[in-house]
Amino acid sequence: MPKRLIKKIKKIITRGNTPDGNMPVIIGANRHSFDPSLASPNAIRVVDTLTKAGYEAYLVGGCVRDGLLDLDPKDFDVSTDAHPEEIKALFRNCRLIGRRFRLAHIRYGREIIEVATFRGSHSNASSDQQSSTSDHGMLLRDNVFGNLDEDAVRRDFTANALYYRHEDQAIVDYVNGFEDIQNRCLRLIGDPELRYKEDPVRMLRAIRFSAKLDFDLSDETEAPIRDHSELLGLIPAARLFDEVQKLFMSGVAVTVWDLLQHYDLARWLFPSSVESKNKHPGAMGMIDQAMINTDERIASGKSVTPAFFYAVMLWGPLQTHWEKLKRDGIPPVPALQQAIQRTLQQQAKHTTIPKRFVTTIREIWELQPRLTRRHIKRAQQLVEHQRFRAAYDLLLLREQAEETPAGLGEWWTEFQHADPVAQKALAADHAQPRKKRRPPRRKRRDNQQ
Ligand code: ATP
Ligand code: MG
Repeated sequence: MPKRLIKKIKKIITRGNTPDGNMPVIIGANRHSFDPSLASPNAIRVVDTLTKAGYEAYLVGGCVRDGLLDLDPKDFDVSTDAHPEEIKALFRNCRLIGRRFRLAHIRYGREIIEVATFRGSHSNASSDQQSSTSDHGMLLRDNVFGNLDEDAVRRDFTANALYYRHEDQAIVDYVNGFEDIQNRCLRLIGDPELRYKEDPVRMLRAIRFSAKLDFDLSDETEAPIRDHSELLGLIPAARLFDEVQKLFMSGVAVTVWDLLQHYDLARWLFPSSVESKNKHPGAMGMIDQAMINTDERIASGKSVTPAFFYAVMLWGPLQTHWEKLKRDGIPPVPALQQAIQRTLQQQAKHTTIPKRFVTTIREIWELQPRLTRRHIKRAQQLVEHQRFRAAYDLLLLREQAEETPAGLGEWWTEFQHADPVAQKALAADHAQPRKKRRPPRRKRRDNQQ
């Protein structure tokens, strides 16, 4: 065989230039920066067990992408040609989950390794259990199994479709993802419009990854988003709640919120918040500030609660309802109760809010009027309240939005850290002067002489 041909074949096998048909680019261990010693040992164990049992198995998705970018992966996903039942037979700690997308969870203590069987083309589906699509082109079931090359093109972005092969530590790339990662470009695989229709959540994933990784959306990936934002209305509210969590708790909430508004996606997640923009501009400012605070808390390793986040997001709509009910003649306290009910019910149509968060949101809101009273006994009780901290944080945001009497937030800052004597003095500064009792009226005598 001529030397040049041998060289060419070698090049295709070990490197390749661009994916040609079903031929992947193989990036050898010495040509990429993915360090398997930094990967989860459990994920590597899963890959090795599957490989030893004669299956193909790879690390895939976010963990490979983040590893290449020197970031800490959130979780580890494995892709294999073993079918769910075959995976289950190999691992005692395995549970099969999901209907829309059936996969295996292998648990090691608190860590779960997600193992998915290669997905194939839907034209090969033999039943509704495997593949089903809505009238809008949305995939309701994605359980058609296939080969590695088919699996690669069923993934969302090229950066998410890289496979790490542990036997030779190579990266297998069918979609030019490696190059896109080097260029910090987020590119949807295939025809973007079709892929967004198949699963509109991919629009939110585009925003999240572009913000989190500081990647630009490729032109074709970006172009259809604004015109297809309404497709998000077809997504079950429970899935959108999960997606909202991921969007805002990934440490880049400020950018995410900007992008969601820019691409007209925000109103499909928080319609009443966006609508209240004109009526309560202060509330919009509170949201912007909450995004900054959320990112800061995450950066310094502090926890963030979805309840507080929703309490801020929905503060504007709550005011709209509350004001209307009061105008209708309902006294403030029952009006607030009804307004809370309405606000949460309205939001739940878009993103379900789990019950445990509903209770906390309600408490944070109910404490707001109580925070305006600075009576010593009541204030001391309030500081001990389980939700005081969150309610106080909301109060600070309201103060910045000039919604509260000036100095109220600062007063609570001092009060909660003061000793009882200083607390008394602080309360005395704001003690309401006692109402003077009116002297009893003299009865008028009709027959005054
Ligand atoms: P991270 O875990 O950091 O949020 P990730 O890329 O790992 O990011 P996952 O939701 O864990 O995202 O999904 C794992 C992989 O599964 C993705 O990288 C992608 O290849 C594929 N994937 C996930 N969701 C979709 C989707 N809606 N459409 C197509 N492929 C998807
Ligand atoms: Mg992941």
